[in-house]
Amino acid sequence: MFDVEVFDDTVTCIKTATKMGDAAIMWAYAYQLGDALFDAGCMNAYDELCAYTGTPRIKRVFVSHGHEDHYGGCPAFLPRARIFAGPITTQILQEPPKLPQFFAFVWGQPVPLTDVVPIPDEIDVGDFSFEVIDLSGHMKEMFGFWEPRQGWLFSADAVPLPSRKRMAMPEENLPKMITRMAQIIALKPKVLFDGHRGPIREPEEHIQTRIDFLTDLQQQIQKLGEEGKTLTQIKDILNFPEPWYLPQTKERFGIEHLIRSFLQDNSE
Ligand SMILES: [Zn+2]
Repeated sequence: MFDVEVFDDTVTCIKTATKMGDAAIMWAYAYQLGDALFDAGCMNAYDELCAYTGTPRIKRVFVSHGHEDHYGGCPAFLPRARIFAGPITTQILQEPPKLPQFFAFVWGQPVPLTDVVPIPDEIDVGDFSFEVIDLSGHMKEMFGFWEPRQGWLFSADAVPLPSRKRMAMPEENLPKMITRMAQIIALKPKVLFDGHRGPIREPEEHIQTRIDFLTDLQQQIQKLGEEGKTLTQIKDILNFPEPWYLPQTKERFGIEHLIRSFLQDNSE
């Protein structure tokens, strides 16, 4: 699936997804500003992305992080565009992991990319100047794109989609995610361009709700850890509902990963 939504004179949302029934399973948002694209959507929308002829043509794709819903669509912009990514993300783009069947269905299996250019510290798009900022936590390497004069932050997956995040991926560092969200609030963004929810105006409350939930959960889990409870016992005590698709993620998502991340508390 593919959809285009104009946010304002500068920003266009490019949405990609896989259809199930009549609706998207989940939208992934890429954002076009002039000839630049922040993230590239998913491989399952490859044909639609190839057919997209928004003006000006996209010549630069900046990839926030190495998850398939953010970089899978990159080949649709080749050879016209250059692909920019950080060093860890570049390795993933060059050798994408083979996805479990569930994720291959939800987003599509990415193909290897050969020419990936190091992401710069600053990105100029017309009159706008973006700082490339560290938003690691959701993944070991993730970048956001911050325009201080506009108060725009393209935040990829830095802010969880659910207000109550109850599961995680093994690579997610939850304490660090909380720190990053607090740093985002301190920037006082006017618009948060989220990787899955789309643009959020005046996002402070949206972000704070997620910080509060995860901070409470962190305290609860760490207290249980200090009492000597094992990970399995903590999982039983929390008794979080498990969504139907959880087994199909082949442990790429799990309640255990979230608990483990809080017990290790390797925030910086
Ligand atoms: Zn992600």
